[in-house]
Amino acid sequence: MRPDSEHVVVVGASLAGLRAVQTARKLGFRSRLTLVGAENHLPYDRPPLSKDMLHAEKEPSTPALPGAAELHELEVECLLGEPATALDVEARRLTVGDNELSYDALLVATGARPRQLPGTEGLGGVHCLRTLEDSLALREALDRGARTVVIGAGFIGAEVASAARRRDLPVTIVEAMPIPLTRAVGETAGHALSALHARHGADLRCGVAVEEVVGTHKVEAVRLSDGTTIPADLVVVGIGAEPVTDWLESSALSVDNGVITDASLRAGDQVWAAGDVARWHSSLFDRTLRLEHWTNAGEQGAQAMQNLLAPDEATTYDHVPYFWSEWYAQWIQMAGIPEGEPEVVTGSWDAEAFVALYRQGDRLVGALAMNRRGDIMKYRSLIARRATWQDALDLAAKRNERSPVPSVPA
Ligand SMILES: Cc1cc2nc3c(=O)[nH]c(=O)nc-3n(C[C@H](O)[C@H](O)[C@H](O)COP(=O)(O)OP(=O)(O)OC[C@H]3O[C@@H](n4cnc5c(N)ncnc54)[C@H](O)[C@@H]3O)c2cc1C
Repeated sequence: MRPDSEHVVVVGASLAGLRAVQTARKLGFRSRLTLVGAENHLPYDRPPLSKDMLHAEKEPSTPALPGAAELHELEVECLLGEPATALDVEARRLTVGDNELSYDALLVATGARPRQLPGTEGLGGVHCLRTLEDSLALREALDRGARTVVIGAGFIGAEVASAARRRDLPVTIVEAMPIPLTRAVGETAGHALSALHARHGADLRCGVAVEEVVGTHKVEAVRLSDGTTIPADLVVVGIGAEPVTDWLESSALSVDNGVITDASLRAGDQVWAAGDVARWHSSLFDRTLRLEHWTNAGEQGAQAMQNLLAPDEATTYDHVPYFWSEWYAQWIQMAGIPEGEPEVVTGSWDAEAFVALYRQGDRLVGALAMNRRGDIMKYRSLIARRATWQDALDLAAKRNERSPVPSVPA
């Protein structure tokens, strides 16, 4: 454990940063602890921003993260509302606004920011979705009955489309790739999941690019590469996110699509990283991974802090990726990595529920489930244990016997 004279600083006051400072206190670190955050808010939860927050029947309120309101009781100094702009690893110094902040150990948890659509800056009615303010702006537009165009059929885009359809509003989703979600779940699963859009009245257009977002002060329409023009009052840009590392450019840290860390989340001399910003070496999958998943951000924040406090006893971060998403009241979950094309072992692609598994040789490496909440964590445990494909098929047989999926009527 670090001595009581030391100052630990965490940059990024969201899920990973919050879990990190909570872990420090839980493990008995009593010395000075500072949390630096660019937003004006205490840490809050992002998944509800594209779900409950957009529902007409729910009152909008800041989605809470347990423990965020009690940070002062943990004697965590919160420096909010201003970003860190530079880091000097050698001098162990951080620039925040006009101030310099010295540290003994640092944890970088600056997350990710959404990619913008070039040429739409400042145009009213065009939004990304990452912050509380973004979500409130989207909600306001939906409350006014906006005709919505979602650019990008990824998970966040799909959730926004679902929220618009829940209000019976017209929504078009424009996707440049021929099949959505291919990188996240593979082609077959991407095709199956995106079929949900048509079933719920959203107009999904694939393999088509946005030529222009039309409008002078406010968006009026979206013109596509196939020559069509879709009238719009609200455009939601969901074309992915990039790690927030620009403030680290002059630091000695290694940055390449994220802050590069070793298997124990160490990024440099007395520096660790966690959450959406971190790219670490996963010994479980023998590759580097950078995830934009809620569960990883929390678990990684906790483990990075544990390793920061006791570097000589640092342990490797053996996390099995996990995320969930919810559109049109369908519960979608993925554990592990999407290697190749998956095989359905429960239900079928067009059933009301399914489980599909991904393999690498003889090993189970991933599981995707729709409306099979009881199954996914069991497969996640198997993946963590490096179980064989046969182990996975045996589990599927047991689960299917226990709770069969009704077959689709012919
Ligand atoms: C709309 C939405 C819905 C989501 N839904 C799901 C879901 O259903 N399931 C799921 O698994 N995951 C979901 N996620 C992903 C999940 O929320 C993220 O993985 C998680 O928030 C990452 O936490 P983080 O702390 O690493 O980074 P972030 O939450 O991105 O927070 C980073 C913080 O650092 C601050 N910051 C940035 N730069 C600086 C700087 N230089 N100085 C100080 N502060 C800085 C930022 O302002 C931000 O507050 C969703 C994300 C969004 C945006």
